Amino acid sequence: MNIENILNEGTSILQKNRISNPHLDSEILLCSSIQRDKKYIILNPKKNLNTNELEIFYRLINRRLKGEPIAYLTNKKEFWNDNFFVNKDVLIPRPDTELIIEQVLKIYLKKSQVQVLDIGTGCGCILLSILRERPNFYGTGIDVSKESINISKFNAKQLNLIDRVKFFHSSVDNFIFGKYDLIVSNPPYIKLSNLKYLDKDIVNFEPKLALNGGYDGFSEIRKVINRANILIKKKGKFILEIGFNQKKKVKNLLEKNGYYINKVIKDYGNNDRCIISTKI
Ligand code: GLN
Repeated sequence: MNIENILNEGTSILQKNRISNPHLDSEILLCSSIQRDKKYIILNPKKNLNTNELEIFYRLINRRLKGEPIAYLTNKKEFWNDNFFVNKDVLIPRPDTELIIEQVLKIYLKKSQVQVLDIGTGCGCILLSILRERPNFYGTGIDVSKESINISKFNAKQLNLIDRVKFFHSSVDNFIFGKYDLIVSNPPYIKLSNLKYLDKDIVNFEPKLALNGGYDGFSEIRKVINRANILIKKKGKFILEIGFNQKKKVKNLLEKNGYYINKVIKDYGNNDRCIISTKI
């Protein structure tokens, strides 16, 4: 079978099972199976594939059929300016989370020297993207998942950032190391009872640990705010991603803990998503 045939076959299998972008998914999975880019498969439609490549492709198509996200099948996701290794142990980076990077870049000039802490770092995408943009920043990332720490370290290495970043396997409650000018976090903030309403591709495959915000959706946010209080320097900035309906409560929590609310930013779906505050 050549590239053209196999691409069509992959597309039709996905289409029959109502996967929403069958052709695109088939292309991406073929690129990943033969480790070539899209340009190659477009320019070489008649190139034959060997049995090993075919086997890898069919295995990926089968996983996609069951709803597994493309990022887990290809083990990569683009975020801000870079590609990050991801697997089922970490949340797939979301475009809305790039709002945090945008805000950091607005607040700090290129030459600023800043100690930044990322609480619940996952694949490390927030922290590492910030460090790539700001050469004098030093970063610390923590996560309660050991696998996440392995992945974020791997991503740091890929992006040549190991000299400026440290990752620790720690829950937020136990972390007492250092004082930071900037704390960022995208904690789990989905209410436990709402997890089942998330998209099937999310709820069946992404780690609940990275999504589950407990009975009211605030249990992890509360922990992050309480701990940030101990770890942040005076006048330090605290940037938090929140759920679409959490602005009022999080604002209150922050104010009670001695933060001034600078602004709340809406995401691409026009939902409140990112809250920027300063420790006073
Ligand atoms: N924004 C994610 C979602 O849509 C949730 C991320 C989180 O809980 N931090 O599923």
